[in-house]
Amino acid sequence: MLRLYDTRHRQVLPVLPAGARSMRMYTCGPTVYRFAHVGNFRSYLFADLVRRVVERHGARAVVCQNITDVGHLVDDAEIDPTGEDKVLAQARAEGRSSLEIARFYEEAFRSDALALNLRPPEHTPRATETIDLMIELIAKLIEKGHAYVGTDGSVFFDAQSFPSYGEISGNRLEALRPGHRVDGVDTRKRFHADWALWKHSHRDMTWDTPWSRGFPGWHIECSAMSLHYLGERIDLHTGGIDLRFPHHEDERAQSDAATGHEVVRHWAHGEHLLFDGRKMAKSTGNVVLLADVVAEGLDPLAVRLALMEHRHRQQMNLTWDTLRAADRTVRRWRAKVAEWAESPSRPIDAGYRERVQSCFDDDLDTPAALRVLRELERAEDVAPGAKFETFLHFDHLLGLDLSTEIGKVPALPPGAAELLEQRARAREARDWAGSDRLRETLAGLGVKVADTPSGQTWTF
Ligand code: AMP
Ligand code: ZN
Repeated sequence: MLRLYDTRHRQVLPVLPAGARSMRMYTCGPTVYRFAHVGNFRSYLFADLVRRVVERHGARAVVCQNITDVGHLVDDAEIDPTGEDKVLAQARAEGRSSLEIARFYEEAFRSDALALNLRPPEHTPRATETIDLMIELIAKLIEKGHAYVGTDGSVFFDAQSFPSYGEISGNRLEALRPGHRVDGVDTRKRFHADWALWKHSHRDMTWDTPWSRGFPGWHIECSAMSLHYLGERIDLHTGGIDLRFPHHEDERAQSDAATGHEVVRHWAHGEHLLFDGRKMAKSTGNVVLLADVVAEGLDPLAVRLALMEHRHRQQMNLTWDTLRAADRTVRRWRAKVAEWAESPSRPIDAGYRERVQSCFDDDLDTPAALRVLRELERAEDVAPGAKFETFLHFDHLLGLDLSTEIGKVPALPPGAAELLEQRARAREARDWAGSDRLRETLAGLGVKVADTPSGQTWTF
């Protein structure tokens, strides 16, 4: 079974108990106010790999991934109700309605996720359509004495009512200092570390509640949705490393306080993607979108492979060179799989299968799995038919569409067809020197030319 590093327990643990037939997983989804960049997709790929590996072990995965279309503020310190909502701010910037912005970027997210072969989650609730669930949960927290209505009608979680706060990130309440706000102490709250579940406001995208008109906090959204769609026992909760605090701490406190028990068995986090040495982020200005990768002539799944060359728990630096190298590998593997498909089928090579599978099971050691597959690619003692079966077996985890070239006439690299044409003409004209030069140029493109009595042939 898959074992993963559990952030809260600080050790590698099986994600499911032995013999479990299902996995309930919650993944914090996108805030739909801009195109998701490949850094964001690194976090979603992590969740996708978990799901694929668990399914390989015969368990059914039920995944919920929210769509944040309201309530995520530009300033993540989160306690300032006058802070700008990311979706509203972008709507203003683009001169469109907040709903238009949210639906447009949600659609863009879905199509990028599809291009990256990320399996669609079973549930993708939108925050704006589940406000009732949040209101219900907030009411329950107030009733249980874990939340209170502040002086302006906003509702706050009483952080001190949840003594184990901070177990995921290590940021315990005693150590949290006031001072998130530049404009002094927030007088609406009882304690500086309390956070807003509901924010009183009359801006766009607000709803009426017994406490005040306003909008929900970002953290309560995930608690409400996870409890509703996955129930009170969730096997695994994932997200990017930056979500450990405050987002996941607050979520854990809310869900556990409402139910009276530990809701999430395992918390697991993916490390950040850097680009040219710095965290990929809009604010850093080094964002790479999937559309940029495609515009460079690269296959979107080259991103998937490039990301899998590093373990999810390591920071990784992406460059255009690594993306181009990954693109070459994906194309080469597809061509090889098509070539192997021509040989008689042979059973999967059991030794390689065990080795690759145990890499995936070992806290998703994808770089090690890829190394073993490269070894298998070169292995002279394994029949092509067995390589074929083994690669396709693991493509269910890799998600690289390795079977797409089977049965196709291999496509020549750009420019090669013209060069072959020129060479055929050079030979007709008995220009042997020219013909040899063209053969070398073609070899540089990976096209091997041979001359036969019936004319030139090529392999690629
Ligand atoms: P957001 O849409 O900003 O809420 O972020 C969506 C997801 O992407 C979250 O799980 C973040 O932790 C994650 N994320 C943001 N930046 C990066 C990055 N550079 N590398 C990996 N994950 C990231
Ligand atoms: Zn969340």
